[in-house]
Amino acid sequence: MPDALIDAIIIGGGHNGLVCAFYLARAGLKVVVLERRDVVGGAAVTEEFHPGFRNSVAAYTVSLLNPKVIRDMDLARHGLRIVERPLANFLPLDDGNYLKLGAGKTRAEVARFSPRDAERLDAYAAHLDAAADLLRDLVLQTPPNRVQGGWLAALPELIKAGNLGNRVRKLSLSTQRELLDLFTKSAGEYLDGWFDSAPIKAAYGFDSVVGNYASPYSPGSAYVLLHHVFGEVNGKKGAWGHAIGGMGAITQAMAKAAQALGVEIRTGCAVDEVLMEKGRATGVVTAKGERLAARVVVSNLNPRLLYTRLVDPAALPDDFLRRMRAWRCGSGTFRMNVALSELPDFSCLPGREMAEHHGSGIVIAPSLQYMERAYHDARSLGWSREPIVEMLIPSTLDPTLAPAGQHVASLFCQHVAPELPDGSSWDAHRDTVADLMIATVDRHAPNFKRSVLGRQIMTPLDLERTFGLVGGDIFHGALGLDQLFAARPMLGHADYRGPVAGLYTCGAGTHPGGGVTGAPGHNAAREVLRDFARRAR
Ligand SMILES: Cc1cc2nc3c(=O)[nH]c(=O)nc-3n(C[C@H](O)[C@H](O)[C@H](O)COP(=O)(O)OP(=O)(O)OC[C@H]3O[C@@H](n4cnc5c(N)ncnc54)[C@H](O)[C@@H]3O)c2cc1C
Repeated sequence: MPDALIDAIIIGGGHNGLVCAFYLARAGLKVVVLERRDVVGGAAVTEEFHPGFRNSVAAYTVSLLNPKVIRDMDLARHGLRIVERPLANFLPLDDGNYLKLGAGKTRAEVARFSPRDAERLDAYAAHLDAAADLLRDLVLQTPPNRVQGGWLAALPELIKAGNLGNRVRKLSLSTQRELLDLFTKSAGEYLDGWFDSAPIKAAYGFDSVVGNYASPYSPGSAYVLLHHVFGEVNGKKGAWGHAIGGMGAITQAMAKAAQALGVEIRTGCAVDEVLMEKGRATGVVTAKGERLAARVVVSNLNPRLLYTRLVDPAALPDDFLRRMRAWRCGSGTFRMNVALSELPDFSCLPGREMAEHHGSGIVIAPSLQYMERAYHDARSLGWSREPIVEMLIPSTLDPTLAPAGQHVASLFCQHVAPELPDGSSWDAHRDTVADLMIATVDRHAPNFKRSVLGRQIMTPLDLERTFGLVGGDIFHGALGLDQLFAARPMLGHADYRGPVAGLYTCGAGTHPGGGVTGAPGHNAAREVLRDFARRAR
């Protein structure tokens, strides 16, 4: 390793960059985080988007954040408080009916549509949870990696693979079958195998299209469903909650934890290039032309962004570069934040006074077939004629976000095409599609449109411009079997090390993937520290 005053430069101050910085600094390294935007947090930030109204502008709900990361960084001491929703989900349906999901409620609610489905809920939850437990065990592990060299190099990886095989072997045959289904099938096929009625399949199937530009009947979408249930809120498995102050409260707490250990964070500081000497990363050049040397460089960026824009292509093996250029990125996500003069008054459950359904994840997508149509529309037209909208109104749980008596809502909408099929720019269609999203909510809550005081719109292009999310991909790369675990970001580089010595990746494009988890940052730090320890020996 070269001599340098800085031990590690982290490119990008997203939550994973901050987590990685924290662990490196805790081990005694001198760490500098360079963030392009004026605020750290990446896609997990709270901003004022309309005078007096603040919201989590991109990521909007918390569950996957790893409990060990929360504990190690002592995020509560740095101001983080996470609260549960009063009701998990509320689905207004087309026939004036609705479905509510929440502790102590789901069974009776589902029985209104299908007594048989209600009977099956516990078994479904138990099977899914057993599969999610395996994921929970794996999130903080470095996947077994395909390594070059002889048996000595391969041995630790073989042991890792053996341990994993052993863990899976100990699962019951029924859980192994469930895992096979969840890793290979579509969410639609999986759910059709459990339930008969459309609303409960829609409620569970929604998770399979979140950030996943696919039909719920696309093979592999069952895994995306599973990916959304391995989290917890305050110890309650699978629950989703709200960080008081918005998602920015998480990353501000992380920044404080890192700074308390001496991490230097520079905002408004984009990195243009990774410096290299004799095939090794030795520092970076910023957009302002400053050259900073470091013993190692860690990237929090989408790996495609890192390797196709910041690294000299001549330093990369041909096969690696070809595959990175083809790294599948692009969520079908369109994100809006709206300032509201009053709460939505749903036709199926009237009332503008705050009720439990206002504090839930409100999903407008009554069936898996509706979601499938949304995907096919987006493929051929650029956006769905009837889009899938999840609306959260966090001000019902958190009065710090809006003036008294008024509200903010997050609209998380799918499906739109990451790139429009007719080649036109999203700049030309931003308002048309935003109007469509508002009208979609208005169809179920007819006071909604007139209650909108201000709106912030983020097309896939805006997500890319603002946050560096290539193709608006909320996960830094699709969560397909070909891009998961030992193949994230590529077979042979699942250990957070790339082909360039001294250059590591710590973002959502590495295992275990997207979401506000902190896990990639945690795991990457461990690998960087292993290399520092090896060098010191
Ligand atoms: C619209 C949307 C909704 C989402 N909803 C949820 C949700 O509700 N819950 C959930 O758990 N997850 C959600 N996600 C996913 C989650 O937010 C991301 O997967 C996660 O934030 C990725 O974290 P990261 O730290 O790896 O990367 P990022 O958050 O993407 O951070 C990368 C950082 O690098 C910076 N950067 C980029 N280029 C450069 C450069 N050249 N130089 C310096 N800095 C640079 C960026 O500005 C950014 O700050 C959502 C994401 C989006 C976009």
